[in-house]
Amino acid sequence: MLYCYERWEEHCVRAKAFAVAAAGFAPARAKRGEFVRLTDGITAIKGIGPSKAKLFENLGVRTVGDVLNYLPRTHDDRSLCKTISEVVEGEEVSVSARLSTPIVTNRIRGGMFYSRGKIFDETGFLDVVWFNNPYAGNMFKMDEEYTFFGKIRRSKTGKLQFQNPVAEKGEGKFTGRIVPIYPLTAKLPQRAVQDAVFRCLEGLREPIPEMLPLELLERFSLLGADSAIRNIHLPESFEMFNSARRRLVFEELLLLQLGLHVRRGSREVEWCEPFSNVECAAEFIGNLPYKLTAAQARVIDDICADLRRDTPMTRLVQGDVGSGKTVVAAAAMYAAHKSGVQACMMVPTDILAEQHFANLSKMFATFGIEVVYLSGKMPARERKIAVQKLESGEATIAVGTHALISADVEFRNLGLVITDEQHRFGVNQRTSLAAKATTTHTLVMSATPIPRTLALVLYGDMDVSVIDELPAGRQPIETYSVDESKRERIYNFIKKNVDAGRQAYIVCPLIEENEESDLKSAMEYVAQLEQTMLSQFRIAPMHSKLKAAEKTQIMRDFFNGEIDILVSTTVIEVGVDVPNANLMVIENAERFGLSQLHQLRGRVGRGSYQSYCILFCSPNQSIAQERMRVMCESNDGFRIAEEDLKLRGPGDFFGTRQHGVPEMRIANLFSDMDILKEAQAAVAEILAEDEKLETIKYQNIRTKIERMFERLELS
Ligand code: ADP
Ligand code: MG
Repeated sequence: MLYCYERWEEHCVRAKAFAVAAAGFAPARAKRGEFVRLTDGITAIKGIGPSKAKLFENLGVRTVGDVLNYLPRTHDDRSLCKTISEVVEGEEVSVSARLSTPIVTNRIRGGMFYSRGKIFDETGFLDVVWFNNPYAGNMFKMDEEYTFFGKIRRSKTGKLQFQNPVAEKGEGKFTGRIVPIYPLTAKLPQRAVQDAVFRCLEGLREPIPEMLPLELLERFSLLGADSAIRNIHLPESFEMFNSARRRLVFEELLLLQLGLHVRRGSREVEWCEPFSNVECAAEFIGNLPYKLTAAQARVIDDICADLRRDTPMTRLVQGDVGSGKTVVAAAAMYAAHKSGVQACMMVPTDILAEQHFANLSKMFATFGIEVVYLSGKMPARERKIAVQKLESGEATIAVGTHALISADVEFRNLGLVITDEQHRFGVNQRTSLAAKATTTHTLVMSATPIPRTLALVLYGDMDVSVIDELPAGRQPIETYSVDESKRERIYNFIKKNVDAGRQAYIVCPLIEENEESDLKSAMEYVAQLEQTMLSQFRIAPMHSKLKAAEKTQIMRDFFNGEIDILVSTTVIEVGVDVPNANLMVIENAERFGLSQLHQLRGRVGRGSYQSYCILFCSPNQSIAQERMRVMCESNDGFRIAEEDLKLRGPGDFFGTRQHGVPEMRIANLFSDMDILKEAQAAVAEILAEDEKLETIKYQNIRTKIERMFERLELS
């Protein structure tokens, strides 16, 4: 949000004038020696020494600029100022007053402390009390004026009193106004961050530089950068806060979209070979053991229409878990084969690739069509054979991991590229796939239903088809959230189901996201289960540290019913399809986001058996409770995705990272739809003027975008 760049002089003079005009740039008020620059290290701020600087560093805050970029999580409205005679019960209010009696602290029952005193102004007296704050009295001197802020309550004897107020000397910095509340980590007190921000804003020598072109600010009525940063921290009013937020959200969304655009590169290839035989999709469909849902049929029609054209298809198929996307893709691949071109399907994990390979092989075997499998982990000899078949054109249908796009794989005449579970791919993989596929038709399938806003950002240039219907006969998965006290009963329940011939997944606790801890977690969990009534069953661990062949074997055994209980880390999150499994137990469910829980739950409910999802969740986290409630209430992936976005605060939008979008610091991709649209309009204007962002005018934006995505790749 804040840019310390070298070449801003060009706009700075005008921008400075604008910032002053827009919100009255408050010139630095610091005393000599307390001035700071954006690029200064944080110890340049008065009151911050090396040890405090360490604590700030834990928050990623190293410079003055970082401090100002560290945005408040919320604000406390302490702006209501009254005299003592005006205060009323129940109100949160700031009062300027002096002590009339010193604060006295006593120890009361249970080792608690109770402090009391009296304050006065020209209109009257008021009691002040603090509970269990033994140092409450320490800061006060008798003849100084303080500003108190807190809640007015009535004591047992019926008198009004200030309970547990915060106080500061003189005219308030953090009382008598709207006060920012920052997200914290251990040991760093709220006041330290507030103080640092206050001193930075006070001590800045120059207005915060503006990176957006002035005409853009004017056209979209945006606050200047300086005013926006000041008002996002210490707003003059809630209106100013809203304007500041709007400006910063606009900027963030503008950068995001420009960044995605620049990375995607322009789609200059306008022509591609139309498929010569699309009608054949019907015979493929006719050969399936089931009838397509109306939604599947509609989406296949959409795709077929695209394939007949001589412009490349770029279509996103969205469909909830289990809605039957694979067969839709297969129909398109069949059309490719019959049109004499090659088709490949790329998936994010080995497990899923194996499974698709098995499914597709079966589907295509009836037509005598060979499917080729390619993964990074297969033996070199097999791989060589596969690559050869694709190069010679002997094979037309391929499925695999991103090994498919590695440099040594040359397709003879690739006509259709499909990516499944595309949100799980990294930005780089997607970019290189796009590069390989510029002259082909591309189909993208996403299981995490992406809320409309995010879809617009990510796939703004794609056509979208939605499979909004599940195959007939699927029963909603019954979902229960339980705590530790139910463990025995849950094990009984698992036993009952396995005795009846079903199978179960257990997602074991998530320790950290790396292979070692994955391994440990799964192995320890299996060892624990061996001590329970479930020890009589065939239990196997599944984790990311396993070799590809081992994973394959385990999945095969599970599929064939030779394993009863699969204890897995989240590697089974996407795509895995074992209809006989009807139980999904998730440990530490509070650690997962809603969409991820929904994905995991989607591993069951794939056959005709009533399926269940059990969420083990530690009870005392309200946001987790809220998530569990949503899970228990709804089986609808779209609704869950929207709730997911709603529940996550703006700074906490970790889900987007999976989609290849950098973490949003302030924008909320769910609720900031209006601003997103404005930013899109601005993006269109900017690109029309300077598609590659090469001119000086957009240089700062370009630099900023590069940094934004760099961070994403590093993480
Ligand atoms: P998705 O990838 O959308 O999560 P899949 O393609 O894996 O879903 O399909 C889930 C299961 O549903 C598979 O076992 C598949 O064979 C089956 N299936 C797909 N379409 C239908 C249909 N129209 N009727 C019955 N079963 C279907
Ligand atoms: Mg799938």
